[in-house]
Amino acid sequence: TLVSGELDKSELRYTPVEAISGTVSALRESFARGTMRDISFRKQQLRALLKGLREDKKALLDALYHDLHKSHAESLYAEYDSVEYEIGQYLDNLDKWVKPSHNPLASVQPALLLSKSEVRKEPLGVVVIIGAWNYPLRLVMLPTIGAIAAGNTVVLKPSELAPHTAQALQNMITRCMDSSVIRVVQGGVKESTELLKEKFDHYFYTGSGSVGRIVARAAADNLAGVTLELGGKSPAIVHADVSDLVPTAFRIMWSKLANSGQTCVATDYLLIHRSIKDKLVPLLVEAVAGMYGKSPKESPDYGRIINARHWNRLMDALNATEGTQIAVTDDLPDEGDLYFPPTIVDGVRPGDSLMKDELFGPILPIITYDTLEEAISLVNSRDQPLALYVFAKSDSAEAVVTRTRSGSATVNDTMFILASMSNPFGGVGPSGVGRYQGKHTLDTFSHHRHVMKRPIWFPTPGVDTIRGPPFAGKEN
Ligand code: NAD
Repeated sequence: TLVSGELDKSELRYTPVEAISGTVSALRESFARGTMRDISFRKQQLRALLKGLREDKKALLDALYHDLHKSHAESLYAEYDSVEYEIGQYLDNLDKWVKPSHNPLASVQPALLLSKSEVRKEPLGVVVIIGAWNYPLRLVMLPTIGAIAAGNTVVLKPSELAPHTAQALQNMITRCMDSSVIRVVQGGVKESTELLKEKFDHYFYTGSGSVGRIVARAAADNLAGVTLELGGKSPAIVHADVSDLVPTAFRIMWSKLANSGQTCVATDYLLIHRSIKDKLVPLLVEAVAGMYGKSPKESPDYGRIINARHWNRLMDALNATEGTQIAVTDDLPDEGDLYFPPTIVDGVRPGDSLMKDELFGPILPIITYDTLEEAISLVNSRDQPLALYVFAKSDSAEAVVTRTRSGSATVNDTMFILASMSNPFGGVGPSGVGRYQGKHTLDTFSHHRHVMKRPIWFPTPGVDTIRGPPFAGKEN
């Protein structure tokens, strides 16, 4: 039987640091050989990945359960299915997406009349993708698919904090894909630090802002591009004119408790209009019972916190709150099992311990407001979050969306943006730099190269004589 709990890091074979440099140079050599220029080769690699993914479906889902106590059903819709969908999307559209584009506006300038311009999407080179542990399959595979489709070679560094998934990914990739295209480096800080000493042509990182800065510095040292998929405190605002509180409560608690709150776009805190608070709070409690029963600890669907360090971080923040805990379940927190019960805290103020950092766990702080203006100001007084949710009638919802900033915004739902795989996903300000998913990943991992062709035969008394000196008498 599968058990979750303190993870046995020894199950993951770390890459020896002395092997890292050779891994990167092998990928640099294979990139230079030019095999990746061939679109049909890229598609063949994506098909091989799809085959491997399907063959290893059970092993991957089991690994996610070992790492996070994530149920197969949740892993399917939140991770596995998205990866399959993304590969399908690329196989269907890549030929069209990589076609050079022509901008009709480019030839309206008289000087450009005989020029032919096109923009080609070209690979960047060797790219590194460093993943987080909370969605350890999705968060590395989605960028990998786009990076390969764009013709890059890839070094993949999964998170060592989800060791079962990291190992299952490596098993699948080494078995089904060409080692001239992608290689996996396993390890923690020591190995990642060594990896970042290598030169890459693009850095794609998902995780916390503090490590994001380290990755961005490595990119700066090489003057290479960087994509940072970070986090933040994503608010949900429930305004007085919301039309139905029952789905509102469900959708908020669903986002707070999926993966035990360890989701970058989870509702981090709740802003409720004072007039509806007493109606909404019992519905939040009911929504928890509806999903996980009276004892979420016994539920096969309720996840566990990734490790004792994160469990204690949550407990410390909860112990320091000045808010009032609402009764949700009789379950007690259990560090040994890494079980943290669903927790709702009312009467929280903006300066509370629960409002400092992204919670990344199943604690929902509630702040009450009197005017929409107040809610908007509170959101704007903080860093731009990765997501923003607003439950309200359309005018109020639009006022919130237009007057705030966030990576994405959703009206009357939470986290559903993740289902929309052809739209861009990414943060703004401290919640991230850049975007991906669908065609946006291809664009992230491509150089958009303007290629202009000019006729040499054109008799040039016009353009060539005007553009060069001597300029005397040519001012008009
Ligand atoms: P983390 O920064 O601790 O680790 C992420 C990766 O960085 C791991 O692979 C790790 O090995 C590596 N790493 C750790 N220390 C390093 C160092 N010194 N040098 C180089 N690499 C190093 O992040 P985390 O705890 O895994 O993720 C939690 C955060 O990530 C939350 O803020 C969450 O919101 C955010 N997140 C964002 C997204 C998104 O898509 N925007 C998705 C998931 C998580």
